[in-house]
Amino acid sequence: MVHTGIGYDVHRLVEGRPLWLGGVEIPHDKGLDGHSDADVLMHAICDAVLGAIGHGDIGSLFPPSEPQWKDAPSRIFLEKAAGLVTEAGGSIVNVDATLIAEAPKILPHVPAMKAAVARALSIPPDRVGIKATTNELLGFLGRGEGMAAMAVAGVNLPD
Ligand code: MG
Repeated sequence: MVHTGIGYDVHRLVEGRPLWLGGVEIPHDKGLDGHSDADVLMHAICDAVLGAIGHGDIGSLFPPSEPQWKDAPSRIFLEKAAGLVTEAGGSIVNVDATLIAEAPKILPHVPAMKAAVARALSIPPDRVGIKATTNELLGFLGRGEGMAAMAVAGVNLPD
């Protein structure tokens, strides 16, 4: 039976940090702030996968209080989530995510992001959806103070 999960994440944009989105480093004048590499897109996808198997969220698996996750590449979190799916006897059917960011342009990087997410989850790239939209200049996202991402995941689990 296919179980679904949902994920949502926000990170603040600051100067002096690299911008990692979907496992790809993207040239930009600011980067996302956080304990790990702050890859907001991978974090949302990770929570969606964990949600589909009824697991705790990314913060409970990888507490920000633990120094070992400082600047950690977020693909580690996805690899762990995929491992938990396997442990549960399941398989990831698909993931789909939307990034909400005013800048930079995301579209040119989508194929590389899909490949990186697919690799981390050990699924084919055509099982990964990645889209991006702006917030029409509204609110904190519109002012470029941060980026948000939402994601869903489908996981096939034994009855
Ligand atoms: Mg996060």
